[in-house]
Amino acid sequence: MAPGGESLPGPGLKGTRVVLAVGSNQGNRLGHLRRAAAELQDLPLTSVLKTSSVYESAAVGPGRQGPYLNAAILIKTALRPLSLLVELKRVEARSGRRPGPRWGPRPLDLDIISFGRRRVSNRLLQVPHPLARRRPFVAAPVGELAGTARTGTADPRKTRSAVVPKTASAQVSRPCSATTTRS
Ligand code: AMP
Repeated sequence: MAPGGESLPGPGLKGTRVVLAVGSNQGNRLGHLRRAAAELQDLPLTSVLKTSSVYESAAVGPGRQGPYLNAAILIKTALRPLSLLVELKRVEARSGRRPGPRWGPRPLDLDIISFGRRRVSNRLLQVPHPLARRRPFVAAPVGELAGTARTGTADPRKTRSAVVPKTASAQVSRPCSATTTRS
C-alpha cells in the first residue's frame, strides 16, 4: 500500500478492474489462496474488490498431481499490466513456488485473466488470458464473480462435472470462514 494510503484505488479513485485466477495444488492449498488474497490487498495502488467461492478440480498436467483449489479475485489497480505481473510473480515466489515444469504442481498460481478492456500481447504477457475460456476451473469462478453462470466452454456439462464447488461460503478474502476446509 502506498505510504499514507492516499493513492489506494477505491470507489471514485482511478484504477482498472482486473480479474485474476488463483490456484494451488501443493501444501496448505486454502492457506495459499487466503494468503494470496491478503498479499494482493497489500500491493501498491491495489485493492481487492471481490472474491469468488473456492472450487476444487482435478489437475491438468504431467504426472500424478493432487487436485487444485481455484478461485477468482477481482481487484482494482493503478499498476500497469507488466508491473502487476511482476508483483504476482513475487507473491507466487513468497508462497514457496520454485521454477518447475509447465503445468507442474505448484503451491500458488496467479494469472491475469482480464485487465479492464485492455489487450496485451508480448513475450511475457497475454491479456485477456488466451486459455481462460477453455479452462472450466477458471471459467466457473470468473463467471461467478461476473454474476453470470457462463462457463465460457462449448460443453457446459463438462464444466459441471469437472468443477465442484468446494463450499459456497469458502471465500478467499479476509475474513475466511472456511476454517474446516482442509488442503
Ligand atoms: P504460469 O505457468 O501460469 O505461472 O505462467 C508462466 C508465464 O506465463 C508467466 O511467467 C508469464 O510471463 C506468462 N503469462 C502470459 N500471459 C499471462 C497472464 N495473462 N497471466 C499470467 N502469466 C502470463
